[in-house]
Amino acid sequence: LMQLSIPLNFIGFIYREIRQGLTDIEAMFDLLEVEAEVKDPADAPTLQVSEGAVRFEDVRFGYDPAREILKGISFDVPPGKSVAIVGPSGAGKSTVSRLLFRFYDIQSGRILIDGQDIAGVQQESVRAAIGIVPQDTVLFNDTITYNIRYGRIGAREAEVRRAAELAQIAGFIQELPDGFDSMVGERGLKLSGGEKQRVAIARTILKAPPILVLDEATSALDTHTEQEIQTALDLVSKERTTLTIAHRLSTIIDADEIIVLKSGEIVERGSHRELLEADGLYAEMWAMQREATEAEEALRRAREAD
Ligand code: ADP
Ligand code: MG
Repeated sequence: LMQLSIPLNFIGFIYREIRQGLTDIEAMFDLLEVEAEVKDPADAPTLQVSEGAVRFEDVRFGYDPAREILKGISFDVPPGKSVAIVGPSGAGKSTVSRLLFRFYDIQSGRILIDGQDIAGVQQESVRAAIGIVPQDTVLFNDTITYNIRYGRIGAREAEVRRAAELAQIAGFIQELPDGFDSMVGERGLKLSGGEKQRVAIARTILKAPPILVLDEATSALDTHTEQEIQTALDLVSKERTTLTIAHRLSTIIDADEIIVLKSGEIVERGSHRELLEADGLYAEMWAMQREATEAEEALRRAREAD
């Protein structure tokens, strides 16, 4: 058995190295594929962002043109306001955020930022204007500082720390043996989903983009972590044009507008209050989530009583 354990460890080591290599290659291919999808028109001007207004005008899109995913979507996110998109899984919510980032060109309709069609300007300039906090952040195999500073290469040490504080992650980092110099990612310290998300939030705070896209996905987190992240997200989205893809409806009740997407169509829209009164799909989702939360709490109380 002793003899076996060394080769097995070694195989484990090789396996991890290969897997990491594959992850990098996959990420690269993903990028290449995406770059090939969209092309800048010759001499495309750069996007001029004045206030960060976002508009979708009758947007139709399918990854495969034969299967339409978004079937004529129109909405506005006025400067500094927040719009939330909710709906069943597979409805096309994440697709909306990918299109705003211009990962793909649409089949018809227009997507405008401050009145400029994003298909007619340099895609780099579109991406520079938007900060995304994705549901699953991949960190670089580098230090925490590097991972945060990636939001704005050249940011000063103090700015990196300030961003970490605002993202509610500075305390955690300072407790680490190497603090901000700790290595993270596949080959370093493993961070939890919530910790990674807060690093991504710190990165976005540093980038300070006029437009924010949040894919919350806080459903897997415990209530305490979720609240900490919510505080951080509220801070970064304050006075920024924000598009939130919400999983927990409790986090978006203050949104200026909530859009309910189902099978690629907007089936309801309005404020939280209006949608509850309408007593449709949103109200149904709200009731279901409340029941789930109550069941969770009952379970927790029962465990604590043990
Ligand atoms: P949501 O975020 O609302 O759960 P998505 O926008 O991720 O939904 O996906 C909407 C639909 O598009 C789903 O049917 C999904 O299978 C499909 N889809 C998502 N990404 C791709 C892709 N890269 N290629 C082909 N189909 C995709
Ligand atoms: Mg999604």
